[in-house]
Amino acid sequence: MRRYSVFALAREALRGHTGWGRAWGAAAPRAAYDAVIVGAGGHGLATAYYLGRNHGIRNVAVLEKGWLGGGNTGRNTTIIRSNYLQDASAAIYEKARSLYETLSQELNFNVMFSPRGVMMLAQTEHEVKGYRRTAMANALQGVATEFIGPDRVKALVPIIRIDGPRYPVLGALWQPRGGTARHDAVAWGYARACAAMGMDIVENCAVTGIRVENGAVAGVETTRGPIATRRLGLVVAGHSSVLAAMAGFRLPIESLCLQALVSEPVKPCMDVVVMANTVHGYMSQSDKGEMVIGGGTDGFNNYSQRGSWHHIEETLRALCETFPVLSRLKMLRQWGGIVDMTGDRSPIISRAPVGGVFVNCGWGTGGFKAIPGSGWAMAELMARGEPGPLAAEFDMFRFREGRFIDESVAAGVAH
Ligand SMILES: Cc1cc2nc3c(=O)[nH]c(=O)nc-3n(C[C@H](O)[C@H](O)[C@H](O)COP(=O)(O)OP(=O)(O)OC[C@H]3O[C@@H](n4cnc5c(N)ncnc54)[C@H](O)[C@@H]3O)c2cc1C
Repeated sequence: MRRYSVFALAREALRGHTGWGRAWGAAAPRAAYDAVIVGAGGHGLATAYYLGRNHGIRNVAVLEKGWLGGGNTGRNTTIIRSNYLQDASAAIYEKARSLYETLSQELNFNVMFSPRGVMMLAQTEHEVKGYRRTAMANALQGVATEFIGPDRVKALVPIIRIDGPRYPVLGALWQPRGGTARHDAVAWGYARACAAMGMDIVENCAVTGIRVENGAVAGVETTRGPIATRRLGLVVAGHSSVLAAMAGFRLPIESLCLQALVSEPVKPCMDVVVMANTVHGYMSQSDKGEMVIGGGTDGFNNYSQRGSWHHIEETLRALCETFPVLSRLKMLRQWGGIVDMTGDRSPIISRAPVGGVFVNCGWGTGGFKAIPGSGWAMAELMARGEPGPLAAEFDMFRFREGRFIDESVAAGVAH
């Protein structure tokens, strides 16, 4: 891999940018691999990367039915935080957040991590109690957060209205090292690093079947021919149930459309991320000046990547109440992604009932922030066949046994 650097930039500037190579090649699938990962979203690519980096497994293919990063990874609102309540969640999200801090250097690719601070507004007494409790849990877990009062909220976000008629701002859970990153760049950076290790990233290659022999995986059928493997990672977010059905087991996952929208660009007016979970909306400002706005999931299961109109109205109405200054902004674009929701709102990183098959899903509305930590934990699981400490509690069998990791407050609405 040719390193990106200021010297490379200068050299290419002098020769009209004719010397840049492709960041990753258009690989054709080979007949067999040591490990196959289905889904070239952030989680699949990060899994492949850490399989190579941490475990030396490099004969790996990542199969993607569309284009790399075209699923939820390229559709999310990029919020990164780790202020979760349960210890297992705080550990994996904080691992991810801390890996984000140096990911650009690690991958030699600017992922534009911007630790500008994330606040989750408390707009009911119930939320005040909940976020105070989370701040205390975070202190014990070593995650730097604090509960701040309305004056501090106003000082950090001057455009906010703290005395709204329905839901005044009573305080917020504040994580100063939370923030955002450029979603495509995260996928592209991992893909480039995987390709540099000799891995094949095969786009336009849908997995259509999973071959199981004597209770263990033997390979996959794809639109570009069969591929043999004894180690298969399913990392397909909203399509996890579809892939699980191909292997003959069921997952406790519901697929729902979650949507987001962006406004026309305006001058810098808000330099932190604000989430208002009671009124169901959240917002940050992109480097281009657009207000990036996220809403809720559709109230019914579906695979449409559009989202219902009434949600847009609901989200914008709520945000206008808390940010009246934005009421005349025009919205530019709206889109949706299929998110994979579990009952306890925590992810699954697990062995499957079929030998050699591993599942990573259930990140729901909030998996972008987890990509590096999830890839790290999934690679460990796939390499050793046993979960490491980060994934130990996230197996899929917890739903059968009642070992829930309840994050409905931290992740039910918030992202
Ligand atoms: C509108 C929206 C806003 C969000 N906001 C945030 C946020 O602010 N912060 C946050 O942390 N998270 C957020 N999320 C959630 C986050 O985007 C996801 O949890 C995360 O991107 C999931 O990544 P992934 O790699 O698991 O899935 P994806 O990126 O969806 O990748 C899965 C890939 O699998 C491929 N695939 C599916 N079936 C097959 C098949 N049969 N064969 C081959 N390939 C297949 C798909 O094409 C897809 O590319 C948001 C999601 C949405 C939709």
